[in-house]
Formats: sequence, C-alpha cells, structure tokens
Amino acid sequence: MYYNPYENTNGNNGKWLKANFHTHAGTGKGTCGAYEIDEVISLYKEAGYDVLTISNHDLFSDVQEYESKHDIMLLNGYEYSQTPHMCCIDGKKVVTGKHQEAVDECIEQGGFVTLNHPNWIHKEYWSHSKLDEMRGYTGIEIYNGVIFRLNGTGLATDIWDYLLSQRKLVWGFGSDDFHRWYDLARAWNMIYCSDKTHEGVKAAIQKGSFYVSTGLILNKFVFENNVIKVSASAKETYVKDNKYIFIGKDGAILHEEFGESACYKLTGEEEYVRVQVVSQHGAMLWTQPVYKEGLFVKA
Ligand SMILES: [Zn+2]
Ligand SMILES: [Zn+2]
Repeated sequence: MYYNPYENTNGNNGKWLKANFHTHAGTGKGTCGAYEIDEVISLYKEAGYDVLTISNHDLFSDVQEYESKHDIMLLNGYEYSQTPHMCCIDGKKVVTGKHQEAVDECIEQGGFVTLNHPNWIHKEYWSHSKLDEMRGYTGIEIYNGVIFRLNGTGLATDIWDYLLSQRKLVWGFGSDDFHRWYDLARAWNMIYCSDKTHEGVKAAIQKGSFYVSTGLILNKFVFENNVIKVSASAKETYVKDNKYIFIGKDGAILHEEFGESACYKLTGEEEYVRVQVVSQHGAMLWTQPVYKEGLFVKA
C-alpha cells in the first residue's frame, strides 16, 4: 500500500494556502532582517501569501499582533543558528542547546522544524553524518532562494533523496530565506488546508499535503490503481507543456514525459516516487513523495 499525500486535495472542502516559513525582518540596519517586520509582512501579503513566519537568527519573533492588521496567518518562529541552521516554527521560545534539544523543545511546544539550506556554501553543509543523527524534524529546505545569490546551491533535492532512500519520512519545503526585497517570492509552499487555522496548517504539513513551487500550480495529482496522474500549469501563459520527471530511490529517474500532463504506473517495487515538474517558461514544482506505507518512519 502506498500513501498519497494529496489523497484529499481534489475535493472542494479545502483551500490552497501560499506560505513561506523562512523570513528575516526587524533586526536593524545592516543585519539579515534589515527591513521592519510590518513592512515585510505587508510585502508578503501583497505577493499573495496566506501564511508567513518571521524567523530571525536565534531570536524568537512573536508577531501575532500583526495578524489581523495584515489579514495573514503568522506562525511565530526563529532560525536556530548554530551550524547547521534550522527553522523552528510555531514553538514558543529560542533554544540555545544542541540541535536535537531545539527540535525536541519545538515539537514539545506544538511546533515543527525544517533543516535549512542543506547545500549552502558547499555540498552537504548539512552533512550525512549530522543528518543521520537528527530525529523529529518535519522536513528540509529542498529550495532556498537566498542561497542562489550567496554561495553553494539553494537546491537540495540530492539531500532529500538521500534521506528518503533511507526510508525516512521527510517533506520538502521551499523558502525565500528573505533578507532583502529581491529575495521575495522565489519559492513557496502551497498547502492544502481544510481548516484555515494555525492547527489546520500544521496538520496539513504533517500529512505532506503541500508542494513546493517557483511559479507552477498543481492542477491535479491523482493516485489510483498504482498510477500517478499529474498536471501542472502556470497561472497565465500560453505555454502549456511541461517536463514531468518521476524520481525514485537514490534519485533515480523512473520516467520522463513531456506535455500538459503525465502519468506513471508504479511496478510495486518503488519505495517512493516524487514528481518534479519543469515548465517551458522556466518555473518549477516539486511534489512530496508517494511512499510505501509501513516501510517509512518519521525522521
Ligand atoms: Zn540560515
Ligand atoms: Zn535564514
């Protein structure tokens, strides 16, 4: 039996929410969060976001007072900034102990954790050995926008496949890691939420009912009779065709198809299959994996 994270996303009982969980703001001139919190939230609202986290370096930002003013859902958080970094989202305070202590504490407080920019500066900034010892986090940043103007690569699907290939259930996240205005809306998470509340968003994330995008919309993701049918498109463009890449264990390409939609029939041997879509107009989309139930354990 396979688990399909998008099982319940084809009905009409929910809404797709646009979210970024990695944003620096309000820490003063010349710092990572150079712009005022109020200003940054307003930029995100204007860019169509529904959910945002201000995550400053080892500084917990309680931004609840801005929620009603900007009509946007705000999950409090911070970026744990001992190397390697993590975002601790919707917890209640900063933890300065070891990585695992910060993860455990955040979960204890009802939050969730992402491992950040795994290929910043050099490949495997988050080393395999460090990843192997971590427990309890929800996902990793498979795309971090700011890294593309820094050093290394913001793309970390190699690390994702490394973890998934060890049968660890880890979801992929897309983040701006916003520092300056030109970091806005580089990559985001689209979360299918039946209940537009903090708890609803967190429940959807735990189920993997979200995807990462740099400009594509997931129109359909159906898994029936061991067949994945998927279609994505850009909002307004005459470019209809995309390249759909079905990826399995160790990052192996199982199938590629070009067109408005694509499908792949699983043989039953696959431990997981995730889909990466590349539009002819340049945007990308990554789905969470369909995976074999019973084989995977939460990271
Ligand atoms: Zn960082
Ligand atoms: Zn950051």
